Amino acid sequence: MDEQLNSFLNASENNTPDNGSSTRSVHAGTRRNKASNSLTEPVVQTATYTFRDTQDLIDFMERKTWGDGDDREEYGRYGNPTVNAVERRLAALDGGDDAVLYASGMNATTSALLTILSSGSHIIMTDDCYRRTRQFCQTFLVRLGVETTIVPMGDYEAMEAAIIPKRTRMIISESPTNPYLRVADLEKLATLGQKHRVLTMIDSTFATPINQRPLEWGIDFVIHSATKYLSGHNDILAGVIAGRGDRMKALRDGRGILGGMVDPHAAFLLDRGIKTLGVRMGQQNANAFAVAHYLESHPAIERVWYPGLPSHPDYEVATEQMVGFGGVVTFEVKGDLRTASDFIDRMRIPYIAPSLGGVESLIEQPALVSYYDKTTEERLALGMKDNLVRFAVGIEDTDDILNDLEQALAAVPTYKTHVRQLAAMWEQRFRT
Ligand SMILES: *Cc1c(COP(=O)(O)O)cnc(C)c1O
Repeated sequence: MDEQLNSFLNASENNTPDNGSSTRSVHAGTRRNKASNSLTEPVVQTATYTFRDTQDLIDFMERKTWGDGDDREEYGRYGNPTVNAVERRLAALDGGDDAVLYASGMNATTSALLTILSSGSHIIMTDDCYRRTRQFCQTFLVRLGVETTIVPMGDYEAMEAAIIPKRTRMIISESPTNPYLRVADLEKLATLGQKHRVLTMIDSTFATPINQRPLEWGIDFVIHSATKYLSGHNDILAGVIAGRGDRMKALRDGRGILGGMVDPHAAFLLDRGIKTLGVRMGQQNANAFAVAHYLESHPAIERVWYPGLPSHPDYEVATEQMVGFGGVVTFEVKGDLRTASDFIDRMRIPYIAPSLGGVESLIEQPALVSYYDKTTEERLALGMKDNLVRFAVGIEDTDDILNDLEQALAAVPTYKTHVRQLAAMWEQRFRT
């Protein structure tokens, strides 16, 4: 018990909100006295935990039955010291009482929904959302008798109107969203939830706890794909949900049943990655901000979406509730699917790959990565243009990224090139 209290005190000592984002990334939620005086959290790579003798087992079962003193683990699916350590750190970063770590971001979402909802429940989701989350609701949950209403992002009247008394259990939204980086008004959303006794859940993957902390605005659950910025190196899959005490217990128990426990080694890598979260986000915020401004004035670019640009529909909300605007910039290259692909192929620094949030810049065309199975018309109906590019900037030097964009965009046919081609054609006709 003393040890537990001690670790709690040590954990909270490093969780002062006054500390800067980098100090918090390095220290939040960590204990001072780890096994073997190790500075880092040891990887406890085990599937199960042993008991000294039968009496030890019986004592544990008694304590468990009476609900006090969870001071040891029983089996790998229920808990792991390395995983617990990362959970304490993530809870501290997001300002929650507790956090539960899962095997992937999708696993976090699906486990939370399966734990909280029951047949007859109704949920509300915003439209610009992760495709697999929407698929889970519309193909899996519907079979279990859970109904989903999708409302346009940013339309809070539609959201309130969609609430069905006694049936609506949750409102789920991403913020910022993918790929248009729409930012939810968290205060409005939380107030709406509290007024109607509906739980609110924000997928804050694109923001990280460095740029935005939804729990502080009154949101009930914050969820992250830790695969992205939190781990930061494109080498693990993990997901996390943070929130307030009593509700988190149900999620933790639910994970023990549904089985989405994360591997201890992945948890270790995540812990290691989080230590540089503050500095990485600082650089990625700066890079994306520069890229967004540069692209917005470029003649080969049709339109740019970045919440840090005054032209973005949610610029004001973003300025109010975010520290930085994140590392993703979405834009339309003037032209069609092919023009955008050619531009991407000319970029030298970013890799062509799905995902985001790692140290390496990644670039992709949503039409080809997430919506390859759809026609141009079907994509348009989903709001996804063929010439759309999502650029998830890494931590490379700002100048190198801007220079790379400059050379790759120089060859995009602009209005001037089209006019020149037309002129040449007329000249040809005139001569013959
Ligand atoms: C990647 C992502 C997910 C899914 O996370 P996985 O770790 O890939 O399962 C969910 N939401 C958002 C916003 C994401 O970017």
